Amino acid sequence: MQRLFGLICLVLIATAVPASAQERLKTIASFSILGDFVRNVGGDRVSVTTLVGADGDAHVYSPTPADAKRIADAKLIFINGLGFEGWLPRLVKSAGGKVTIVTATAGIAPLKLGSHADPHAWQSVSNAKIYIGNIRDALVAADPASAQSFRANAEAYLAKLDILDREAREAIAKLPQGRRKVISTHDAFGYFAAAYGVEFIAPVGVSTESEASARDIAGIITQIRSAKIPAVFLENMSDPRLIRRISAETGARIGGTLYSDSLTAEKGDAPTYIDMVRHNIKALTSALGD
Ligand code: ZN
Repeated sequence: MQRLFGLICLVLIATAVPASAQERLKTIASFSILGDFVRNVGGDRVSVTTLVGADGDAHVYSPTPADAKRIADAKLIFINGLGFEGWLPRLVKSAGGKVTIVTATAGIAPLKLGSHADPHAWQSVSNAKIYIGNIRDALVAADPASAQSFRANAEAYLAKLDILDREAREAIAKLPQGRRKVISTHDAFGYFAAAYGVEFIAPVGVSTESEASARDIAGIITQIRSAKIPAVFLENMSDPRLIRRISAETGARIGGTLYSDSLTAEKGDAPTYIDMVRHNIKALTSALGD
């Protein structure tokens, strides 16, 4: 009798828990920007664990055994693709390989840098909208019962991205044409440059895995002088010493920090993607305006 009573209590407790909390779809995002996208579309129906967190560098990440465990427990893993997460295939394999991999850049025409695809597609807000569509479709497929909620969340977020895209275009259009040139640490702003018309020159290539050579740096310094590039920018995930040195040698001022591959912690400048793009626009317009 006591056992039966216990069983009834258990059933009562189980049914008292709201369905959303009980059945949250477990997902993983490879890096912080993607984690923010998945959170916005998933809302309270989805739990999101981010592998490369705030201020982290996904180009050179070293996965931990805890990451493999998290992936083994998850239903979906969202990745950027385009060669961004070179460490990921091995990690997924070591996690048992059962998780569904969702490539958030599917359908985006990648820019090329040499023979490689440039992975930083999220830096154009219109591409971010493609990420959101892919995330929505993958969540709907994995949890059709929550489809309505995912679609509504995606629609609301896409509307915010439309506003953001317009803000970026208007802000950059106001800058004098001859001043729309900056130096950043690594080649992360190709999509931003193509979308909004600011030229970026970077001493480090498209991945932070390689270091700038003395020749690369000398070339950049010559370029800053001859093209009269007004400002250089730091990154939250890269060593600031290189940019400081270039600034000291050329007199180009440091325009602050641009956030490229990683969000900041809650209290930083860029805790969300939308905050990140707004911060970058503000940093660029205040450094390049006349
Ligand atoms: Zn990068």
